[in-house]
Amino acid sequence: MSVIVFGHKNPDTDSVCAAIGVADLKSKLGVAATPAAQGELSPESKFVLDKYGVSAPEVVTSGEGKQVILVDHSDLSQSLDDLSKAEILGIIDHHKLGDVTTPNPLECWIWPVGCTCTVIKAMYEFYGVEIPKNIAGIMLCAILSDTVIFKSATCTDEDKKACEGLAKIAGVGDMMALGMEMFKVKSAVEGTPTRELLFRDYKDFNMSGKKVGIGQLEVVDLSILEPVKGDLYEEMKKVKDEGARHSVFLLLTDIMKEGSEMLVLSDDPSVVEKAFGKAVDGNSVWLDGVMSRKKQVVPNFEKAFA
Ligand code: MN
Ligand code: MN
Repeated sequence: MSVIVFGHKNPDTDSVCAAIGVADLKSKLGVAATPAAQGELSPESKFVLDKYGVSAPEVVTSGEGKQVILVDHSDLSQSLDDLSKAEILGIIDHHKLGDVTTPNPLECWIWPVGCTCTVIKAMYEFYGVEIPKNIAGIMLCAILSDTVIFKSATCTDEDKKACEGLAKIAGVGDMMALGMEMFKVKSAVEGTPTRELLFRDYKDFNMSGKKVGIGQLEVVDLSILEPVKGDLYEEMKKVKDEGARHSVFLLLTDIMKEGSEMLVLSDDPSVVEKAFGKAVDGNSVWLDGVMSRKKQVVPNFEKAFA
């Protein structure tokens, strides 16, 4: 039986590429492993896999009776609904430690770096396994995506070092150009259903017993999102009601201006001022310098909700 390796719900490029990397490494270490994703891939992830000729992982919706390795998450709310029926062999991640627990010892690689693929690069080195050229390419893209081409507050020297090594293996001369090419694909919203946009990079959190959804769209220029903002807000209302959520926030991140406009829908909008020291103006608030949900948004809200 093959071990299933998968990332969080609403898979992003890191979740997809990390699953592929870990499955490759494990297979080479003699453990049959298959990469999987909890849902369809984003246009950015498809672009990355196409570029390096890597096939898309299978979609997984149940872990019942399976051995699994989690990548890019350790929060139950972001994992398979029936994760308790699976056997967790390992976690490879770069987020705060979540609420997953195991009855048995497990392999755990959780580093405070900008991307899971940075950790995986180190794992390949630890085990003395060569990274295939195409997998180096997609791992490089994952790091460029998660760190917003090194601009995010989450980016560390380890991430930059990993990228240099991966670029060499993949034969990429200009990382910045590759990153911008990817973010242009990510910025394309035309013709995409509003719901799909809202859930493209969306996570639910349990904050002091309240269900809080936080989505993020990263674009090279916020004006791209101007025509769809109203529709996004209407969709947020539906999502809030459907899931009995206390709040739904959507970060519209301008990677060139290096900040985010946050659309706010909450039973208690004052949490935004508590979290960021800035009042909501209409339906939204501009957060200068805020680009990372993980490092600059989730911790603030967790404190505000506590
Ligand atoms: Mn992720
Ligand atoms: Mn990640």
